[in-house]
Amino acid sequence: MKVYKFGGTSVGSAERIKTLPKLIADDQPKIVVLSAMSGTTNFLVEIATLLYQNKSEEAATAIKNLEDKYAKVVRELFSKPEFAKEALRKLKENFDTLKSFQPTNFTAKEERVILAQGELMSTMLENLYLNETGVQSILLPALSFMRKDLNDEPDLYFIREVLKREIERHPTCKLFITQGYICRSYQGDIDNLKRGGSDYSASLIGAAINAEEVQIWTDIDGFHNNDPRIVEKTHSISKLSFDEASELAYFGAKILHPTCVIPVQEANIPLYIKNTMDPKAYGTRISSEADGVGIIKAVAAKDNITAVKIKSGRMLLAYGFIRKIFEVFEDYRTSIDMITTSEVAVSLTIDDTGNLQKIITELTNFGTVEVDKDMTIISVVGNRISENKGAAANIFGALSEIPIRMISFGGSRHNISLLIHSDYKKATLEALNRKLF
Ligand code: ASP
Ligand code: MG
Repeated sequence: MKVYKFGGTSVGSAERIKTLPKLIADDQPKIVVLSAMSGTTNFLVEIATLLYQNKSEEAATAIKNLEDKYAKVVRELFSKPEFAKEALRKLKENFDTLKSFQPTNFTAKEERVILAQGELMSTMLENLYLNETGVQSILLPALSFMRKDLNDEPDLYFIREVLKREIERHPTCKLFITQGYICRSYQGDIDNLKRGGSDYSASLIGAAINAEEVQIWTDIDGFHNNDPRIVEKTHSISKLSFDEASELAYFGAKILHPTCVIPVQEANIPLYIKNTMDPKAYGTRISSEADGVGIIKAVAAKDNITAVKIKSGRMLLAYGFIRKIFEVFEDYRTSIDMITTSEVAVSLTIDDTGNLQKIITELTNFGTVEVDKDMTIISVVGNRISENKGAAANIFGALSEIPIRMISFGGSRHNISLLIHSDYKKATLEALNRKLF
């Protein structure tokens, strides 16, 4: 069995919902994982925000607008009245749920129920559309099998067992449709795998059923060697190792959710990135095969990075100093990306600045704190790139005109990262492109 995942734009309109079956038309057994229609999850976040802000009237108006939008999709999608009627009946349940929340006692738990409606609606519509056109498909409810454990991590044992049972209930069915992103918490409440988490769902499902392969369908023909939105004449990379893909997904290439690589890597299942707009294109194959030792495969950039420097004479020859600094970030559940240290200072980067003020206040107990905003991490990625003797010389040779704030080399064998001000991002990517590819 194969797992296919389609993102929000692939189901973003009635037109796209109608096109999708062509991409999964062969007779091979598969599970198709869908995101919410593009824009819906953001819209649901807004509705929740209005409820938090005690603006129930505005929330009601927003819900009404969304409902109108879905009614229009139903009108454009179905040609048989009984299917349109059934879709509207099901949508009414979703919208009744949305309307049931009031600002009083509105908490993160209620918010998560709101956020789940997008995927519930998109999968229902696609499945009904397939059925209308005579394709046999079954909707597998992710809320029955996708579950997290006590540590808030996906419970692969549970997922495997329940999913197996669900699939076995339909022995002749070859096409299953299910929701990405949504799941249940350990306690059984509706939860999710964080924004962009549908890729992760697909990878978890692939690992759980030991799929032949997992395909992530998006709107570009795979990972590119540089950011095609910024640099001209980039090309897609046909083969990457799991490690290379993890680095690229994490450090900027917005193609794949970074956590998505882990389950398929552990289960050693190849992962393909395919292009909905150009289905014949090969895309990128990500697998355990790592070739081209030391060859630079790609450059990626990650924006909205904040650098924090803590400088203190007390750090000199001291032990435990870095732990204390890291504990501050841990206390505020803020993850650190890049780190560099000298004997008297530590620089690190974060991308979640939600608790930055509080973090700075605590860090001043240890030394002087400096903060640089609007920074960009540039990552150069390649299998065992650290063994390529000329790599660093080439990278820094290309960047003689660019002020570099931090350099990270040797943390992973597959990545060399630099921190620059975002104003220099375009120039940096172009200079690296000229020199490296
Ligand atoms: N619909 C969710 C989001 O917009 C999950 C996803 O699309 O991957 O974040
Ligand atoms: Mg996505």
